[in-house]
Amino acid sequence: SGGRMTPGGRISDIIPFKDVAELLERISALETNEKKKDKLNKFVEYYRKTFKKIHGSLSSELAGGDSMYPILRILLPDVDRGRRAYGFKSSVLGRMFAQILGLDKKSKDGRSLLEFKDPERAGALAGDIGTIVQSIMKNRFSSNADSNNGPTLTDLHEILDRIAKNPENDVNQERQKKILQSFIRKLSPLEGKWLVRILLKEMRLGFSSTKATVYGLLHKQARLLSERIGDLELLCQKLNDPSVEVSDVDISLFNHFCPMLATRMDIIDSTFEAGSSLNDNDSNGATTSKKSTKKDFVSLPPPPFYVETKWDGERFQIHYDGTNFKYLSRRAFDFTRKFDETLTPRLRPMISGTVRSFVMDGEMMAYNKKYKLFTTKGYNIDVKTMNKDNPNHCPVFVAFDLVYFNGDTLIKVPLRERREKLKTVFKVKEDVIRLSEFKTMNSKEQVIETLNNAIDDGEEGLIVKDMNSTYEPGKRGLAWLKIKPEYLEDNMVDDLDLVILGGYYTESVRRGGEITHFLIGLVDKKNGKEEYFPIARVGSGRLRSMEVKDLVKELSPKFGKTPFSNVHYRSRKTPDFVIDPKESIVVQVKASEIIPSDVYSIKYTLRFPRITRIRKDKCPSEAMTVQEFVRLNDACGGK
Ligand code: ATP
Repeated sequence: SGGRMTPGGRISDIIPFKDVAELLERISALETNEKKKDKLNKFVEYYRKTFKKIHGSLSSELAGGDSMYPILRILLPDVDRGRRAYGFKSSVLGRMFAQILGLDKKSKDGRSLLEFKDPERAGALAGDIGTIVQSIMKNRFSSNADSNNGPTLTDLHEILDRIAKNPENDVNQERQKKILQSFIRKLSPLEGKWLVRILLKEMRLGFSSTKATVYGLLHKQARLLSERIGDLELLCQKLNDPSVEVSDVDISLFNHFCPMLATRMDIIDSTFEAGSSLNDNDSNGATTSKKSTKKDFVSLPPPPFYVETKWDGERFQIHYDGTNFKYLSRRAFDFTRKFDETLTPRLRPMISGTVRSFVMDGEMMAYNKKYKLFTTKGYNIDVKTMNKDNPNHCPVFVAFDLVYFNGDTLIKVPLRERREKLKTVFKVKEDVIRLSEFKTMNSKEQVIETLNNAIDDGEEGLIVKDMNSTYEPGKRGLAWLKIKPEYLEDNMVDDLDLVILGGYYTESVRRGGEITHFLIGLVDKKNGKEEYFPIARVGSGRLRSMEVKDLVKELSPKFGKTPFSNVHYRSRKTPDFVIDPKESIVVQVKASEIIPSDVYSIKYTLRFPRITRIRKDKCPSEAMTVQEFVRLNDACGGK
C-alpha cells in the first residue's frame, strides 16, 4: 500500500486505517498460527520500511518518540495504558450501533444488533457484533467511504482518545455516540467491523498467543523487557530498532516500571524444630512439630539482612519532578487524578525541601482515621477510588524503596544505600506517608520469632531483603523473599469455632494498654455440665481491628479478675482478664497446624492462629468440643 507522505509527520499519519483493517481481517481468516504470523511479519516489515522513509532511521529517539506503538496498541489492547476504558459492554455497543446506523428497533437489522447473542436473530454471526455491523453497513450504505481518502491510523487513535472515559471532558454515552456517528460515515464496512472489535477490545485474531507473537516480531528482548516495563509505548520506543540490543532497563521519571517482586519462602522447613517462639511468646510449651513436607531451595540472604512488614495494601510507585506527582499501579494504571485529590495536598508539605525529584516504591494503604489503623483488603475498601472527603478512610503511602533520586537512577545502588537516602526524602506523618521500618537480622530463628509476632499482631507475613541487592525491575528473584505462614490447604486447620475465655493486655508499647490478645478454647460437655479448655492465645489483630475493637468494647464490661471454676486455665499464666464462658462469644479461627504443647491442660495448641470471623450466631456451648478436636487431630495425623 502507498499512503500519503507528510514531511515531519508520524508513521500513523501515513498508515491508512484501511490497511490495518485489512491486516486484521487477513490474520483472523488465516488458518494456522504460522500463516497468521507470516502475515503480521510482512506488515511489520512494511511498517518499518515506511518508518525509515519518514524518519531516516529506526531509532525512536531520533524520531521524536515515534514508534511501533500506534499499531501495537491495536494488536494488544489489554496491555495498552495510553487511554482510559471506553466503558463498552457488548450489549451497550450493540444498542449504540443500532442507533448510529439509524436502524429501526423492530427491523431485522435492528434486532440482529439488539439481540446479537441470539442465533435466531443474528444467525451464524451471533455474538459477533463487529461482523453484524459490517454486514449491515454492506447492505445499507453502498461504498459511502472514499477508500483513497479514508481515515489514517492517527485519525483512528484520535477518535479512540475522544471516546475513552476521560474525566476531564466527562464523556457520556450520548457524546460517544455522536463522535462515532460522524466517524462511521467515513468508514468502509470492513473498517466498521474492526472499529467495533477495537472498541470491545475483542480482537479475535486467533493466535495461540497474540502477546508472544507480537513481542516476538517486535524485538528479541521484547518479551523479557515487557515484564519490567509496564508501559507499552515506552517498550515500543526502546525496542523500535530490532537490531539494537537494549543493555538494561532503567527507571525514568514519570515512566512506569514493573516493580521488583519477592519469591515465596517456606521458612519452617525440615531443619526447623518448633521451639519456644511458637504461638506463645511467654512459654516454651510447643515441644515438637510436624516436619514440613514441602521442599524448596529458597534460602535466606547472607546475613545480616533486612526484615520488614509485608504490607497488605496495593503496590504503587510515586514519581515526583519537583512540582507534580504521578501515581502508577503495579500494572501501569495511572491513578494520578484520584491521588492528586486524596493524597498530594497532604503529601507535598512532607517532602524535604532539598528534594528535586524521586521515584519511590511502596504500598498504598487504606487508613482508618478513627481507629488510626490500616484496614485490610478483606474489607473491600478501595484506596484507589475513595473520595477526598471520605469520613472514615484516607490513603497512606508506606514507602520501602527509592529507585530514582534528584535526577539519577538508583537501581544499581545497593538496597542499604537506597534505604539511607529514602529516609531523607520525606518527613513521616502517620496519616500521610510512612517509612516501612525494617530490622536487621542474622538468623533464621530471629526471622521465625518475628514472623510469629507478626502473625500474632494480625499481619500477613514478612518480607526479607538482601541489603546489598540492586533493584531489578520486574524481577522475582532471591534478593526479596516473602514469608507467610503455611496456610496451605492440606496443612491448614480451618474453621475452628472457639470460645473466648480471657484477655491479655498489650505487651508492646505501641499499642499502649489495650487488650490485644484473647485466650480461646474448647467446650467439654459432661453430664449436662459445661467445662472449658483453653487451647491457644490469639492476637486480636492490629490491621483487621475495626471489628475486633468493637468486640473488645463489647466484652470489656464482662471481663473480671476472678477465675471461673469450670474453665481449665493455662497452667502457668492465667490471663489478665477472664470472662464467664456463658457470657462470652465464639470466634472462628484458622491455624496452620495443631501441635503438642505443655502450656494447656489439653496438651495441644495451635500454630499461627488467627481470627477469621466472629460467630455471633453461635453460643459458647455450641463451640467446638474436646471430642471433636481430638477427632480432628487424629484425622490430621496428629500434626
Ligand atoms: P506477588 O506480588 O509476589 O506476585 P501476590 O500479589 O500474590 O504476590 P502476596 O504474596 O500476598 O501478593 O504479597 C507479596 C507482595 O506484597 C509483594 O510482591 C509486594 O508487592 C508487596 N509487599 C508488601 N510489603 C512489602 C515490602 N515491605 N517490601 C516489598 N514488597 C512488599
